[in-house]
Amino acid sequence: MGTLAFLLLAAVCHAQQTYTRTLKLMGSRFDITVIAIDQEQGEHAIDSAVAEVKRIEKLISSWDSDSQTSRINTQAGIAPVAVDEELYQLINRCLSISRLTDGAFDISYASMDKIWKFDGSMTRMPDSATIKQSVATVGYKNIILNPADHSVFLKLPGMKIGFGAIGKGYAADKAKALLAGQGIKGGIINASGDMATWGRQAGGEDWKVAITNPLDKSKAFALLPISDGAVVTSGNYEKFVIFGGKRYTHIINPRTGYPSSGILSVTVFAPKAELADALATSVFVMGKDSGIDRINQLPKIECIIIDEEGGIFTSNNIKIEKI
Ligand code: ADP
Ligand code: MG
Repeated sequence: MGTLAFLLLAAVCHAQQTYTRTLKLMGSRFDITVIAIDQEQGEHAIDSAVAEVKRIEKLISSWDSDSQTSRINTQAGIAPVAVDEELYQLINRCLSISRLTDGAFDISYASMDKIWKFDGSMTRMPDSATIKQSVATVGYKNIILNPADHSVFLKLPGMKIGFGAIGKGYAADKAKALLAGQGIKGGIINASGDMATWGRQAGGEDWKVAITNPLDKSKAFALLPISDGAVVTSGNYEKFVIFGGKRYTHIINPRTGYPSSGILSVTVFAPKAELADALATSVFVMGKDSGIDRINQLPKIECIIIDEEGGIFTSNNIKIEKI
């Protein structure tokens, strides 16, 4: 009897519960979910994840004029800027992803911010001469890294870098790593659809992620199990403009300077949210055939594409459980 009571008590003490907090970070909605033994541990873990995301935002924000990223931008064409190892390595990985995607992913897309605005303020298509002039300052090959002093130099005046396509994924990975390191057994960092997961749900099942149907945002079109991996969805249903009946997304083709069109959403599965985030953006630019082709060449990476006609296309090793 006594033994049974003890066993029951032990089971209760070790029961894991789920704690979630929703808040705005990096200008986006974050949902942080952790599995913890009690509320105190859960809330403490979430607090430290929030602090970590804020720390990263400070480093990579291009609208905060105090950030190291802004300093790199204001010194474009003037001088190299020495930055923290962390930012230097992030930029280094961004350049690798540019090479991997034949330049579809390019953090120097950012000088195009001056022309394309996806906040509802644009009334007409920019003229082709303006686009041609601006796109001349886009090009990852003109981002010069110097490992000797961790400096970053944007070679051309007017160049600018921005982490809009990778920052949330990077932050999700870092928050996950921090919590896993604190002994939190499982969780999901969901940065507006960029998700890094680890462990399992409190009941022992895999986490399940819902993929939004871009044709009807209120509905999910698939539910997929995931553990210790990332899934990221990039969609053109949030930030876009319509000119002449054609919808243009906030993802810019770095070669032409025009926003990409043709694809409604791209979901990428990868071990890390950082790479998944960058690749989801890249597939928009590459288009569905080249995009799927490239994803099929990469180990442990899969994708789901929904095009403007509502067609669903996937990489080779993915099974969708439609709902
Ligand atoms: P979301 O921010 O909606 O999750 P993405 O991860 O696809 O979407 O990132 C889109 C953002 O990436 C754009 O708002 C812009 O800041 C930036 N961006 C646009 N085009 C490119 C590009 N070709 N390469 C890298 N970043 C880009
Ligand atoms: Mg992205």
